Amino acid sequence: MKVVIVGGTHGNEKSGIFLIQKFLKHQELLPRGHAYKFCIGNPLATRSHCRYLDHDLNRSFGKPLVPKSSREGARAAELKADIEAWAQGEPFFLIDFHTSTANMGTALVLSRKDRLSAHAVAGAITEIPQGRVVFNTEANKGQSFLESLAPHGVLLEVGPVSQNVFDPDGIQKTEVALIAILKTLQKLEARTLEPIALEGFQEKGTYPYPTDQEGRVSAYLHPRFFGRDYEKVENGDPIFVSDDGTDILFDGEDGVHPIFIGEAAYLESATAFMISKKVTQRF
Ligand SMILES: [Zn+2]
Repeated sequence: MKVVIVGGTHGNEKSGIFLIQKFLKHQELLPRGHAYKFCIGNPLATRSHCRYLDHDLNRSFGKPLVPKSSREGARAAELKADIEAWAQGEPFFLIDFHTSTANMGTALVLSRKDRLSAHAVAGAITEIPQGRVVFNTEANKGQSFLESLAPHGVLLEVGPVSQNVFDPDGIQKTEVALIAILKTLQKLEARTLEPIALEGFQEKGTYPYPTDQEGRVSAYLHPRFFGRDYEKVENGDPIFVSDDGTDILFDGEDGVHPIFIGEAAYLESATAFMISKKVTQRF
């Protein structure tokens, strides 16, 4: 089928950028039978080695659209037109590469209620060590991802990977996941898609860093909590160490699963991690 592969939606996430450049030169290394299009999502941010310039490009495809006067607003409109011209009204699948500084392993993020996307994830996940499914079908309302340009698609989030590093683990894990998805899509094309149930982690919201009266972060992530993405937390579990040396305990719903713990990109909103719940979704 037609497949769009995007890296550099965030300019400081180098794994995807490396792989786009690689496959532009060496498409023969990818499974045959698909018609590929490769894109650098945000070329200006990629050259500047930053996440974005004016607005997060991966929050620029919802309604209302980010103004075209901003650089990401202009790029969002350009990408949409470019991809639509290439697709010519035919169905296509979009894979958007990301990295996380958090211990996310290889997360296949589904932002849509779409059966083909769910089958692609279900088939691929069996080939991906430490592969996990994350649903953001609720948390992402109103600020759609780049991936929403396509009728089918998935976002890949690989971590822990530092920003602006051509991290070997990050690049190789992203490539393994890509190949697994593409091979699964080959098998799916000839098949009728039965209803499917997928187990994964449903994003439910953000959890803030403690701050002082000046709004500065006043606690760091607890050593027994940091790096424990996807593990269950209960009320009373230590999650921060305060600047006065005391433990700060989790205060929320029991039995939730924090993810993106300490994600560097979320610091601008003083978010320490995301809350998720383990669920089974039917497609
Ligand atoms: Zn990203």
